[in-house]
Amino acid sequence: YSPELNKLFCRLAKPCPVQVRVGVPPPPGTLLRAVAVYKKSEHVAEVVRRCPHHERCGSDSQAPAQHLIRVQGNPQARYHDDQTTKRHSVAVPYQPPEVGSDCTTVLYSFMCNSSCMGGMNRRPILAILTLEEPGGRILGRRCFEVRVCACPGRDRRIEEENRRKRGGAGGGAKRGQSPPPEAPPQSSKKRLLGPEQELFQLQVRGRRRFEMLREINAALEAAEGAAPARPSKGRRQRGEGLVPRGKKLLLKGQGGRGLGVTTPPSAASHAPLPL
Ligand SMILES: [Zn+2]
Repeated sequence: YSPELNKLFCRLAKPCPVQVRVGVPPPPGTLLRAVAVYKKSEHVAEVVRRCPHHERCGSDSQAPAQHLIRVQGNPQARYHDDQTTKRHSVAVPYQPPEVGSDCTTVLYSFMCNSSCMGGMNRRPILAILTLEEPGGRILGRRCFEVRVCACPGRDRRIEEENRRKRGGAGGGAKRGQSPPPEAPPQSSKKRLLGPEQELFQLQVRGRRRFEMLREINAALEAAEGAAPARPSKGRRQRGEGLVPRGKKLLLKGQGGRGLGVTTPPSAASHAPLPL
């Protein structure tokens, strides 16, 4: 895992420990769900699935053959195909940390290479982890990019070096190291924001569709390393709140830093969606 890229480099089908830490113990029955989405906006609407070749190679006892993300060593893992979004996900019951530990470890494996033809086809993906209450309310969300390849260590070094070179070449970095400026007052916003920075609101009918659009928006925001679209206290620096420490994924309670698109509990279905 590369903290500076917020990116996991791993081999096909190798279990990767992801550590989850919560600020407040969630209610009983809370699920930890993992879903993969394409990082680039032109692909984000497409469902991430295994390539035809690996799908034919089949499945283990419980995971459907077409699912990319699997949980290893947990018989309580449940695989889900969303009826609305068609996305594949895998959920496990949230388990409190063992005594003496402050985080819970889940083993995830990725069942195709990023280069697989007819599957990811070299398109980068994000793994999105959400902590869900039994009613479906989202308590926290974190995401990281994933590259599945034959030489994860080598590819990590190359990508980190490339990033440093870009960063050193006269402000080539997409976003500087300084925190984004405070949101300007409403009246001057239009003049100061570029066409890709302007904020829009969208009314969405139906909770499921709202959740789907919110997930897509969350993935896009994460992919761009952008500040949350909603004004929030303490706007984060690039990636802050999304970047795990080492392999650690920090899932905090609602309203946590960096969860700019997590809505408050009551506002969900009729809340304007920041897109
Ligand atoms: Zn494949």
